[in-house]
Amino acid sequence: MNVRWIAVNADVRKPLVQSPPAWQDQGMDLDHAACYRVIQQRDARFDGRFFTAVKTTGIYCRPVCPARTPASKNVTFYPSAAAAQEAGYRPCLRCRPETAPDLGAWRGTSNTVARALALIELGALDEGNLEALAERLGVGERQLRRLFREHLGASPIGVAQTRRVLLAKQLIHETQLPLTEIAFASGFSSVRRFNETFRALFGRAPGALRRSTGDEGVAAMDGEFNLLLRYQPPYDWQKMWEFLRARAIAGVESVAEGCYCRTIELASVPGTVSIQPAEGANALRARIRIAKPSSLPSIIARLRRVFDLAADPGAIAAHLGQDPLLAPLLKQRPGLRVPGAWDGFELAIRAVLGQQISVTAAVGLAVRLVLRYGEPLPKPEPGLTHLFPLPELLARADLTTLGMPKSRAATLSAVAAAVLEDPELFSARGDLEDAVRRLRAIPGVGEWTAQYIALRQLREPDAFPASDVGLLRALSDEHGKRPSAEQMLARAEPWRPWRAYAAQHLWLVPNAKLMVSLSKGDEEAPRGSRGEARAEPKELERGRGRVPPQIRFGAPGKTSHARGDVR
Ligand SMILES: [Zn+2]
Repeated sequence: MNVRWIAVNADVRKPLVQSPPAWQDQGMDLDHAACYRVIQQRDARFDGRFFTAVKTTGIYCRPVCPARTPASKNVTFYPSAAAAQEAGYRPCLRCRPETAPDLGAWRGTSNTVARALALIELGALDEGNLEALAERLGVGERQLRRLFREHLGASPIGVAQTRRVLLAKQLIHETQLPLTEIAFASGFSSVRRFNETFRALFGRAPGALRRSTGDEGVAAMDGEFNLLLRYQPPYDWQKMWEFLRARAIAGVESVAEGCYCRTIELASVPGTVSIQPAEGANALRARIRIAKPSSLPSIIARLRRVFDLAADPGAIAAHLGQDPLLAPLLKQRPGLRVPGAWDGFELAIRAVLGQQISVTAAVGLAVRLVLRYGEPLPKPEPGLTHLFPLPELLARADLTTLGMPKSRAATLSAVAAAVLEDPELFSARGDLEDAVRRLRAIPGVGEWTAQYIALRQLREPDAFPASDVGLLRALSDEHGKRPSAEQMLARAEPWRPWRAYAAQHLWLVPNAKLMVSLSKGDEEAPRGSRGEARAEPKELERGRGRVPPQIRFGAPGKTSHARGDVR
């Protein structure tokens, strides 16, 4: 549903937009009166969706700010923190706008903006310039600026700068790191720049900010960062954790109860991350160990991608829930996310390893690959001993000795060679079709694998591997007859632009019939769901009776998780 965003107050400090930008939201008219009602009620569902700037104080707030609600005539609403900041407002020290969930709510209105934001998060405007970013996205610089203005009310540079300031502010409040380290860890090029920015914005030095809030912060050892990564609830941690656990490569990843850890490497510097739900907060707690503080923004961006923290479950449910097929699934798992990938090359290798075999068998191959070609971690931690092999090494290696068909070993080598030739192969660029075409150019990579990489690595919310056996199975009729990939695509049309989420829900639909056809050697059943099956009787019980006939439940004890996804 298209709703107009109305910047109501005529006397905004600085004219923010020439024309009211289009703003998409689910069924709620986000005009001034509606936004004002939200802040009067401190409605947490809107946290991260818009920000309130208060003219009399020059401060901007989250909708949940505990301070007294200012008079309606004194507030202006902005669709992003960057817009409020560009209009001259500074972040509130009470509600701390940097702790609002960083939503990709604009997804669906402009994929170009969503992709640009992902790249900015990964540092595209720290190292490169706007022109290069626009070129990568296949649009003109002016057009990119216009799109940002329209959807976020701010310029791309403004968005990048705001990110930096808000991350620095978060680190000041939540850690006891020395300020010099915070400056670099939040992406500032120098301590002077960091100090100047804070003086200009808050009228005081960064250190004063720390003292004034009386925050305790978390003490950490050298090179360790502890911080919270916020999301908009609900969040289905259990399903995310199960997904990662089923695919964990021992040595590179370690999955204990309620916690996920892995080794990482950025710009040749190794490290580890550990993630678990933060108690009492809509956030995950991340412990990041890396000797290079300036890698922190990229690490945060990647973790947000892996755990799908930018998703706006309300917006997705409002759209997908209109389909009677999906409505009960959304009701059952309202916080389900699309698990992302830490690294594109690693994901592509995993996907190829998983072709035609079970998830368990694919993980076994991956472990062998890591032991043989992965660099040992200089400071191993429990369960974490190796880095995932680099493309340089795999491109040169004879992978046929790993115990897989020659053709698959050739595909692995081709993936490694392709990423060496184009290091940006697995980063967002152009549109979904463009990305899929580029990936399919790699020998051995078909439509399924390309869509799968787009879904998990490029975070394309509309990616959809229509030929996936698990999806086809979920939509089979009462005789077990599956639709064709074309029929599947047609059925999925109304799910745009959130087809990836629809797929994630359908993958969780248990179906015993399918297990039978798999065991008969169904040709369509490539990518090993057998290794995935896991008992979930409670889920089945709950789902029974609410799920339309198209989605049939089989005998408890069998589920049809993400096909082929080692993938
Ligand atoms: Zn506030």
